[in-house]
Amino acid sequence: MRFIERRQLTVRGTVQGVGFRPFVFGLASRLALCGFVRNTTRGVLIEVEGERQALDRFESELVTSGPPLSQVDELLADVLPAQGSTSFRIEGSSTLEPAGGEDVRVTPDIATCSACLADLFDPSNRRYLYPFTTCAGCGPRLTIVSGAPYDRERTSMAQFHMCEACAREYENPLDRRFHAETVACSRCGPHLVLSTPDRRPIDGDPIDRLAGLLVAGRIGAVKGLGGYHLACDATNARAVSELRRRKHRDEKPFAVMFATLEAIETVCAVDRNEVSLLSSPARPIVLLERRDSPLGPHPAVAPGSTLIGAMLPSTPLHHLLIRAARRPLVMTSGNRSQEPMACDDDDARERLSDIADVFLTHDRAITIRCDDGVSRVAGGTELPIRRSRGQAPRPLRLPIPCGRPTLAAGGHMKNTFALGRGPDAILSHHIGDLDDYQALEAFRREIDLYQRLFKVAPEMIAHDAHPDYASTRYALERARHDDVETLSVQHHHAHVASCMAEHGLTDPVIGVAFDGSGYGNDGTIWGGEFLVGDARSVSRAAHLRAVGLPGGEQAVREPWRMAVAHLTDAGEDCEFVARRHSGEARLIEQMIARRVNTPLTSSAGRLFDAVAALAGVRDTVSFEGQAAMQLESLAGSAPDSGGYPFGVDETPGCLVIDTRPLVRAAAADARSGTGIPIIARRFHTSLADMVADVCGRVRTRTGVNVVVLTGGVFLNVRLTLDCVSRLSAAGFGVYRHQQVPPGDGGLSLGQLVVAAASGP
Ligand code: ZN
Ligand code: ZN
Ligand code: FE
Repeated sequence: MRFIERRQLTVRGTVQGVGFRPFVFGLASRLALCGFVRNTTRGVLIEVEGERQALDRFESELVTSGPPLSQVDELLADVLPAQGSTSFRIEGSSTLEPAGGEDVRVTPDIATCSACLADLFDPSNRRYLYPFTTCAGCGPRLTIVSGAPYDRERTSMAQFHMCEACAREYENPLDRRFHAETVACSRCGPHLVLSTPDRRPIDGDPIDRLAGLLVAGRIGAVKGLGGYHLACDATNARAVSELRRRKHRDEKPFAVMFATLEAIETVCAVDRNEVSLLSSPARPIVLLERRDSPLGPHPAVAPGSTLIGAMLPSTPLHHLLIRAARRPLVMTSGNRSQEPMACDDDDARERLSDIADVFLTHDRAITIRCDDGVSRVAGGTELPIRRSRGQAPRPLRLPIPCGRPTLAAGGHMKNTFALGRGPDAILSHHIGDLDDYQALEAFRREIDLYQRLFKVAPEMIAHDAHPDYASTRYALERARHDDVETLSVQHHHAHVASCMAEHGLTDPVIGVAFDGSGYGNDGTIWGGEFLVGDARSVSRAAHLRAVGLPGGEQAVREPWRMAVAHLTDAGEDCEFVARRHSGEARLIEQMIARRVNTPLTSSAGRLFDAVAALAGVRDTVSFEGQAAMQLESLAGSAPDSGGYPFGVDETPGCLVIDTRPLVRAAAADARSGTGIPIIARRFHTSLADMVADVCGRVRTRTGVNVVVLTGGVFLNVRLTLDCVSRLSAAGFGVYRHQQVPPGDGGLSLGQLVVAAASGP
């Protein structure tokens, strides 16, 4: 007995732009089912007709055996009357779906797949050496999209009309490029142009010519997936330092692109986890420990660091360029120091023409600027530093669903924003530091675009408690304009909630939030906090003793000021630091004594700065966290010889951690000529001891037995792993960031969770 049925299946999840419809077609054909599939603003709609058993198989395989990057979150099935269909077809998208309740997945950009790479280097293939080769399983997505649903006409591929050969592939269900919206070839698709800064075209093969110029020591601007890179020969010290000079970037490390994993392995120590991260479809920059080898990039790519930010090519263009150059290339963001990366062609010409000698551009527009992602591996799992290209806008799951559509505006530095709809948190790509006008413009524009892409109209806007953050001002302005509610979320509460969200934690935790600075509830600057509570609310259980921040922001750029502040606080003579800054030092001491432009801070980041300066690592920095990074590197070369002492004042409400004994002991070491690596190591050990000790005391007071480690200081792998091992040994459940950055790039997720927890 044969039962013929028709079912309507509504599929939600990551099902657009990942080759899902061709997969559905193939599956239906194999099971001899008829009907259709099409993209909708909600996801994918399928109607299938055939034998009941085959329909059951179809449903289960739909969920379990989709293409690698797809993810089915929800499958709703309805039974319809059979219609006697005789074939299965893929239909065009419908934009006439009812509004409201949509959930469209625009996927992240996906690195060139192995099949496309094979096409690229096969002389008999019609895409031989074509730099825009893609298929349904790889290629640009977020960075070319301009509307939803994801279809060619709503991307920057719209202007390229498929040639006959491409159209045949696009329409052939058995082809890898079946319904690949980015399909193109050298006859019909985008093209490269190599030109001088004043737009004069340079003859010859653009890739070969550019590779030749780079090898000869020149600097190139290269239009990549999410923006322009500045490229030069990473092995050429002169080229690297010239790039630094022109970019006004003194010491911040440059990322380096290598042709293959093997090429990376000759220069860096790479473990299994790092290999899989490097070669993941997101192709992030991965910070790797450099081997002692004369080969590879010149040390000038990352001065004073034992790490190299390495990445593999993510597009055919990069594969071709790196092979032609036959050496690792610096691939750093196309910008002057501090500004966001250029992605618009005219803007790039304007901003990069006095940096680059030559421009490699093409005629496919980048619709969303998206920086490279940056990550590292700690203790066998990922520790994200910047979640961006290849990750955004893949949704994260919220432990507490948003009862109403919510926007979280994020922080001020390293900004990301987030949209919340039901259980999904759509975290944006890296926007940057909102001090910069262009970054702020991008922030406004891209919130708008994400809202359209994901059809979210916020009824609640969450923001940081800092009144002067540009993101806070935006949130308040918008809320007034749109007449929606706002929620102010304390900075470190958001950090803690963000880490909780990653791990689905909803019960109270001890949140150790160590960072540079965040607006505190008491008007001081927080940053060395132990908070107890959940997403709804936390209380301050302990914090580092507050000291002066002489000159505010100036103290961030000049860590020696923090050394003076901590030494003075500890009753120590700061002569050995101050004599390096004779005139100014007296002034700083007076500022501290009279509290002139010297707010109080409990910042752990500034304690790192103070110890780095008093140990003699460095007195000034060119980017926040530089001193701490060096201190971490140095600590790696010293044996463990115990930590420095510290005190804990057991006051009734909130514990105060007395850092004075630590500062005195570190100063004594520095004065007696103890090696910097030993001081660095002892300091790391003391902080880990301190975290374990204080969490123990907080557990005694509260009974809470779970710790989350969060805040930018926990980008420090040594500190993170030392804390994890001590806390685990003490019987705590310990969690740290693995999906979003511990730093301010993760704030928006935390704000979203706090809003969800306090909402209706
Ligand atoms: Zn492909
Ligand atoms: Zn074509
Ligand atoms: Fe922070």
